[in-house]
Amino acid sequence: MSDFTTKTLIKKTRKPHKCFGCSGTIEVGSSAEMTSGCYDGHMHKTYWCKVCCAVMETMYSFDLEDMSEGSVKDRNENQWYQTKTEMEFDA
Ligand SMILES: [Zn+2]
Repeated sequence: MSDFTTKTLIKKTRKPHKCFGCSGTIEVGSSAEMTSGCYDGHMHKTYWCKVCCAVMETMYSFDLEDMSEGSVKDRNENQWYQTKTEMEFDA
C-alpha cells in the first residue's frame, strides 16, 4: 500500500485540537486544516491552525515527514507572530 494524504478544510472545529505546526490549541469554532493519511502503514490525523496554514503556504518546500511538532512556528517564528497579528487585526 502506498502512502497518501488528504487535506480537509474545517470551517468550524467542533472540538479543540492541538495544532501540529505550533503546538498551540485550536479553539472550538475556529477554522483549521486537517491532513489525514497513511505513512509507513500507520494512519494518522494532523490538525493545523489557520496561522500555520498561512505560514506554510509561503514556505518553498514543505515536507510533512521532515516536520516535528511545533516546527512551523519554530522555524519561522517572526513570520508566525506577524501572520497571527495580521489575522487578529483582520478579525
Ligand atoms: Zn498552528
